[in-house]
Amino acid sequence: MSPATLPVKMVTVAHVFVSGNLALDLVGTLKWRTTAPEELLAVPEDLDAWCTQAGVTTEPVRATEGDLADARRLREALHSLARARLDGREADAGAVDVVNAAAAREPVRPRLTPHGAVRTGSAPAALSTTARAAVDLFAAPEAPLLKECGRYECTRIYVDRSRGARRTWCGMDECGSRVKMAAYRARRRQTGLAGR
Ligand SMILES: [Zn+2]
Repeated sequence: MSPATLPVKMVTVAHVFVSGNLALDLVGTLKWRTTAPEELLAVPEDLDAWCTQAGVTTEPVRATEGDLADARRLREALHSLARARLDGREADAGAVDVVNAAAAREPVRPRLTPHGAVRTGSAPAALSTTARAAVDLFAAPEAPLLKECGRYECTRIYVDRSRGARRTWCGMDECGSRVKMAAYRARRRQTGLAGR
């Protein structure tokens, strides 16, 4: 087989879903926002992967470059709303418009089958479903407690549903353990125990 006829192996990002809300999970596809931003929606296939990994759709949405641009625009509008909530500010009207415009479109269609749910729709439908999750989140009569991960660089935002609202990290593996280990090492250095 010549290289031209080899099947293309699609390398897709393994997305993370730790925010407790679909819209906040989309916000998390731009990592390390304040230090060294890392784009997890770099190509349309990344959006396809996000939609199926999130369970928004069970089939690929076959995103275009335009859909990718729309997804990032929605994501930044959602980030603006979440940021405003965290800071106790009023939401930016332009960001609200972007979210409402996405939510106004036809959402993903769920269908029950003997083998579970089949969810089909285009990329705009998947973004509509995501935007609707944001409307539910921000309009809830008792505003759920939003938090930003306690690891400074992380910048992931999540809904804290833990008992007593004591959740500090987006996830223990990626952030909690690392921060605790760094603090432990720092304590050892301070007490002159490093290297012993
Ligand atoms: Zn984190």
